[in-house]
Amino acid sequence: MKQIWAPWRIEYILKGKPEGCILCDAPRQNNDAVNYILYRGDKNFVIMNSYPYNPGHLMVAPYRHVANLEGLTDDELHEHFEIVGRSIKVLREVFNPGGFNIGINMGKAAGAGIDEHLHTHIVPRWHGDTNFMPVISDVRVVAEALAETYEKLKNKF
Ligand SMILES: [Zn+2]
Repeated sequence: MKQIWAPWRIEYILKGKPEGCILCDAPRQNNDAVNYILYRGDKNFVIMNSYPYNPGHLMVAPYRHVANLEGLTDDELHEHFEIVGRSIKVLREVFNPGGFNIGINMGKAAGAGIDEHLHTHIVPRWHGDTNFMPVISDVRVVAEALAETYEKLKNKF
């Protein structure tokens, strides 16, 4: 049986991560290519998921350390989904997927790996696609695939 909304599974992998908040730390480091940050808005940014379900698995997150959707200001919320829309446009242009899974796992009970910092997953889907990670489970190959995807997407935003 294939799981359809598998970003939940991806987040289980992330639970083993070190202390601190990766979604706070990554944008502060000003090393976007290394951290796979594709786009910076005023209040939100786009980062590639380092444990992608599929190529082009992105996350949109506010800079502010906010756990829940209702914790965002109207401005943050508006820009958040504007950037989700922008990301979808870019992914359509570059990868031409057949569809998308777009979603938020809010709270540990809902499967959130980074449960203290809200983020929206954007996962391009193709008919009959299978989980990308087991296919290229070698760490070096994954890193190369991520770098390649970053180059393809970066200047499209
Ligand atoms: Zn944070």
